[in-house]
Amino acid sequence: MTAANNNTTVFVSGASGFIAQHIIRQLLDQNYKVIGSVRSTEKGDNLKNAIFKSANFNYEIVKDIADLNAFDPVFEKHGKDIKVVLHTASPLNFTTTEYEKDLLIPAVNGTKGILESIKKYAAQTVERVVVTSSFASHTSTVDMCNTKGKITEDSWNQDTWENCQTDAVRAYFGSKKFAEEAAWEFLNKNKDTVKFKLATVDPVYVFGPQNHIEPGKKVLNVSSEVINQLVHLKKDDPLPQVACGYIDVRDIAKAHILAFQKDELIGQRLLLHSGLFTVQTLLDAINEQFPELRGKIPAGEPGSNKPEDLLTPIDNTKTKKLLGFEFRDLKTIIQDTVSQILEAENASAKL
Ligand code: NDP
Repeated sequence: MTAANNNTTVFVSGASGFIAQHIIRQLLDQNYKVIGSVRSTEKGDNLKNAIFKSANFNYEIVKDIADLNAFDPVFEKHGKDIKVVLHTASPLNFTTTEYEKDLLIPAVNGTKGILESIKKYAAQTVERVVVTSSFASHTSTVDMCNTKGKITEDSWNQDTWENCQTDAVRAYFGSKKFAEEAAWEFLNKNKDTVKFKLATVDPVYVFGPQNHIEPGKKVLNVSSEVINQLVHLKKDDPLPQVACGYIDVRDIAKAHILAFQKDELIGQRLLLHSGLFTVQTLLDAINEQFPELRGKIPAGEPGSNKPEDLLTPIDNTKTKKLLGFEFRDLKTIIQDTVSQILEAENASAKL
C-alpha cells in the first residue's frame, strides 16, 4: 500500500478519543480522506468544525459498539470508498464494577462487529485493518509484576473471561485480550472471503499532549489523567499507585499509519513501549523539569521505587526494528504533556 495518497479514504472508529485524534491529525497532514465514527452529532460537529477544520474529515454516528450491527450503516454507505480501517474505539474505564457490560462485551463486540460489517459491505474494498489493541493483551495485571519474566510481541495475557473479572483494571486487560483474539480468529476464519490484511498496535500506557484541550477541561482521558493528577496533587497528598510502561501518543499515531502503509507490518502485533515508570519516576521528572511546581506537588522519595524492581521487563526489539523510528523519551513526554496542561489552565484562567 502506498504512503500519502489523496484518493485513499481511512475509516477511524472512536474518532473523539485521545489516540484517535492524533491519528486523524497525522492522516489529514498526509492528505488522506478520513471518516471518523463518534457517538453524537455534537462530538462530530466539534471535531469537524472546531478541531480538524478540514473538508477531508467527515463523521458518522456509531452510538454503541456493544451492538454487533453498530457499524453496518457506515459500511453500507461508504463501503465502496474505504480502503483502510483503524479500529480504535473501545471502553477504557477503570471505575466500573459492571465488567462484562461496560468493558468486556463492548470491546469484543466492537471488534467482531466492525469486521463483520466490512465482510458484509466492503469485503473486496477494505485492504488494511489496524486494530488498536494493548500491552494488556500480552499480560495480565498479575503477570506483569514478575521481574524474572519477559513480555514480548508473542506473549498473550493468560487470564480467562471469568478470572479477569476481579477488578476494573484486570477486566479492562481481559477486554483487550479477548477483543484482539477475536480479530485474529475472524481473519483466520474469513481469509478467503475478505481482502484485508491485519496488524495490531499494542501500546503500554499512552502519555503525551492532547491533540486539543477544551478550555476549562479538568479531567483528561484515563491514561493522561495519571500525569494530570500528579500535577494537581498537594504537597502532602497520598500518592496514587500505578506502574507500567510508557509511550508517547504521537508515536502511537505514527505506528497506526505505518501499520497499514508498510507491507512488512502485515500480520504483526506491534508492542509499543518506550520505557517503564512508577509514580515516583513521573514525580522525579516533573519536579526536575518544572521548578515552578516544586514544593507545591509531592516529591515522594526521589530516586526510590524503581520500576525495574517491580515490573516484568518488556522486550519489543522486533517492533522497534519493524517500525524503524525512535520513540520519544520520558523527558520529552513530561515536558510536552505538563507544559500543555499548565498553558491550558493559564489560558482558561484568562477567559
Ligand atoms: P479514549 O477513552 O480517549 O477513547 C476511546 C474512544 O472509544 C472514544 O472515542 C469513545 O467514545 C469510544 N468508545 C468507548 N466505548 C464506546 C462504545 N461503547 N461505543 C462507541 N464508542 C465507544 O481512550 P484512548 O484514546 O486512550 O484509547 C483508544 C484505544 O487505545 C482503545 O482501544 C484503548 O483500549 C487503547 N489503548 C489505550 C491506551 C492508553 O494508555 N490510553 C493503552 C493501550 C491501549 P466517547 O469518547 O464518546 O466515549
